[in-house]
Formats: sequence, C-alpha cells, structure tokens
Amino acid sequence: MIPIKTAEEVELMRESALLVSRCLGVLGENLEPGISTLELDKIAYEFILDHGAKPGFLGLYDFPNTLCASPNEQVVHGFPTKDPLKEGDIISLDCGAIMNGFYGDQAYTFPVGEIDPKVEKLLKVTRESLEIGIEQARPGNRIGDISFAIQSHCEKHGYGVVRELVGHGLGRKMHEKPEVPNYGKKGKGPLLKKGMVIAIEPMINMGTRRILQLSDGWTILAADRNPSAHYEHDVAIGPNGPDVLTTFEYVEKALSKKGAIVI
Ligand code: MG
Ligand code: MG
Repeated sequence: MIPIKTAEEVELMRESALLVSRCLGVLGENLEPGISTLELDKIAYEFILDHGAKPGFLGLYDFPNTLCASPNEQVVHGFPTKDPLKEGDIISLDCGAIMNGFYGDQAYTFPVGEIDPKVEKLLKVTRESLEIGIEQARPGNRIGDISFAIQSHCEKHGYGVVRELVGHGLGRKMHEKPEVPNYGKKGKGPLLKKGMVIAIEPMINMGTRRILQLSDGWTILAADRNPSAHYEHDVAIGPNGPDVLTTFEYVEKALSKKGAIVI
C-alpha cells in the first residue's frame, strides 16, 4: 500500500521539507574552495537542531552523518570528510530532517567556484530532468511517466541514468512505497493519487550509467570515474498536479549573492 497523506499531513511535511531547503541554502552560503564536507556537515547538524528538528540521515541504517556528501565521480551516499573542496569540484549534498514526525529529504549538486562548462551542462540537464519529471507527478499518471520523462531527457544528451538507486515515497519514514526510478516506460508502474508524497531524485552520470560501491559499504561512484549529478525535490500529488514541498530558492539566493554559478 502506498501511504496517502491528509491535507494537514502534507502541510506538516512542507515544514520539514522547507527546513531542509533552508539548510541547503545555508550550506550554499558557506560553500567555497577550502571548506571540507565535514565542516558543512557540522553546519547542517547545528542548523537542523537549532530549528527544533532532528537530522534525518544520522543513525538511519547506521549512517554516521547529517549529510551525504558525494564529490565529483561519487553519485550518492558519500561520507563527509576532512578533505578541502577544490575550485572546479562539484559536490552533491543530500540532506534529511525529521520534524513533526515527518521527513524532508533534498539534494543539490553545487559547483565549487568555476567549473568545466561540460560539467556545468551535466548539472543543468540533471536539474532540468527533475523539473520535467515533476511535471508528470499528477493524479491519474503513473510512476513510469515520471521515470520516462527523466530518462529520455538525460539520455537525449548522452548521459548515463543510474538504475540501481531510485527515488521513493516519503512521510513518517524516510523510504516508503513507491520506488521512483529514473528510467522506465510511460503508463507503467503504480498509479499516482492525490495525497501521495514522493521524493524525485535523478542521479545522472556524464559517462556510463554503471556504478561501483566502495568497500565502505556506502559510497556509490560512477564506474568510469566521470562526474555525476543529483538533484532532489519532495513532491506531493495535489488535486490538479504536483505540489513541490521543497524549494531551491534558498540555494539560488545564496549562490547568486556571492556571484557563483547558479544551476
Ligand atoms: Mg535525499
Ligand atoms: Mg531521497
């Protein structure tokens, strides 16, 4: 069974989702060459606690941090480290929080200073695919409509769509039904109904879609070590279409304020 949220529950989820969005904005303000992802992790941890919530990932399946921090060729589930970020890197930050009993979950791949235009295009296309996928998140459509939209947009540009990791239902648990793959067929998969809430999160590789897992049991990276991008929104299925609970507005404000590239 796919959980259906009441309108009141969706509003509680919006609060959790927006807290995570604000947290990513604060990370965007602090992100610069030289800072480590462990320092960003600490900032996120304190921000979430200061706002009456709890980190969503910390301790979940024994994950040891507040953020998943996946630089460059890492796709998702990287651990924050003491290594300073360098000009030209990209860093995918995925953040979760739980508040009022509901999870928020959002990811953004940030450029660190100036980046290669080819990498910037990967980020832009991945971000576009998220928006194109969200357009399909409406009552009467099926999960496959979202999946197909994301896959076709990214593959049109020659990118590899990661298949082993997928988006998911979101609510009182971080991972609920249904799975939301980033590849699939139109008209297939579970039917979308008003009150479902899903995290849509394309994970897109510049090269091969094949992935590897490091021996740490967590970190996923592109098998050919080319860059990988990850953007995520929490989306409620509204009566007439998608109701996006998260926002990139805070990240965009932070990045444009310091003249950084806004994806
Ligand atoms: Mg996430
Ligand atoms: Mg997620």
